[in-house]
Amino acid sequence: MINFNQPHLTGKEAHYMYEAVYNGKLSGNGKFTKRCQAFFEERYGFRKTLLTTSGTDALEMCAMLCELKPGDEVIVPSYTFVSTALAFLREGAKVVFADSMQRNPNLDAETLEALITPRTKVIVPVHYAGVACDMDAIMMLAEKHHLLVVEDAAQAIDSYYLSRKSKVESRKPLGGIGHLAAFSFHETKNITAGGEGGLLVVNDERFVRRAEIIWEKGTNRAEFFRGEVNKYGWVDMGSSFLPSEVNAAFLWAQLENIDDIQAKRKTLWNTYYERLAPIAAKGAFTLPDIPEYATNNAHMFYIVLPSLEARTALIKYLKENGVGAVFHYLSLHSSEYYKSRHDGRALPQCDRYADCLVRLPLFYDLTIEEVNHICDLIDTYFQ
Ligand SMILES: *Cc1c(COP(=O)(O)O)cnc(C)c1O
Repeated sequence: MINFNQPHLTGKEAHYMYEAVYNGKLSGNGKFTKRCQAFFEERYGFRKTLLTTSGTDALEMCAMLCELKPGDEVIVPSYTFVSTALAFLREGAKVVFADSMQRNPNLDAETLEALITPRTKVIVPVHYAGVACDMDAIMMLAEKHHLLVVEDAAQAIDSYYLSRKSKVESRKPLGGIGHLAAFSFHETKNITAGGEGGLLVVNDERFVRRAEIIWEKGTNRAEFFRGEVNKYGWVDMGSSFLPSEVNAAFLWAQLENIDDIQAKRKTLWNTYYERLAPIAAKGAFTLPDIPEYATNNAHMFYIVLPSLEARTALIKYLKENGVGAVFHYLSLHSSEYYKSRHDGRALPQCDRYADCLVRLPLFYDLTIEEVNHICDLIDTYFQ
């Protein structure tokens, strides 16, 4: 059986976890936490980063930082993980769902402006499969309407947006463009912090101090430890968002190997793409789309079938042949919880991806031979 996903160990995880124990400090914000945060800030130029216990937690911190009032509106794609919307809903906002593009599941920047009202406060682009949304267009709209942009970069580690602003092309890391961003280190993502983990990114200076306070249960403890104040206390809202040093130590082992992990995943992804292209050319399905303004971080390999029936049949066939292929999100606007709160607009592209998209196995320890075997099966199926 080839599973859909399998977490990868680089070999140093246990070593660093022991080290964290021998250091005598296991609670959050220790040596490994600081080392991981410095890595992200140096490698990607993020202004300030804070490790969190999950991507969901990082999104909740983003939502708290936006200081939403009841009735404020937040634009979120409907084809996404529940946490993208939930984080803002918990803060009392009204979630307004956007449709996906025809070419890929990311939200459609061209139809976005029609969703903006005087109550809109935040846009939340999700970089699906680690492929960038059109961030120049989204940031321009946000500036025009004085909105905040929170990137859900949960799947987008080590991926870039190729900006064409002022005619000079520049490469911007995803998570480093919006005012705030969230990454996930869940076991299904490219890099994991030992099963669960996340990262808050603060790109806008205005949010740095408050982010640290929210992270530390509403206290100014981080300033106290840096010697900036001589006592600490309760100063704002917050919760316990810090992961243990054991998780940070695990994450450090993965970060040390990020280039190797990314290179291997891209090789597997490219093998799928080359092998499946001739079958896709005959119209059996469409391949993942990487727009001219995006890079590929090989987070996911998906194909889109022409119908729900066609997808169900392919998943069944692959399962019978020992391959774990899976569908992905059910559109949030038609979920049991949200459908009565949704404004009733049809979101046909979200529904199409919910019905027709299927993800193929992609993880570090998958072999090229296994990818070829999966492609052979798909080839035989469509003959
Ligand atoms: C994984 C994921 C999340 C949530 O991350 P967790 O670490 O599992 O809480 C949020 N948004 C998207 C798009 C994701 O893929």
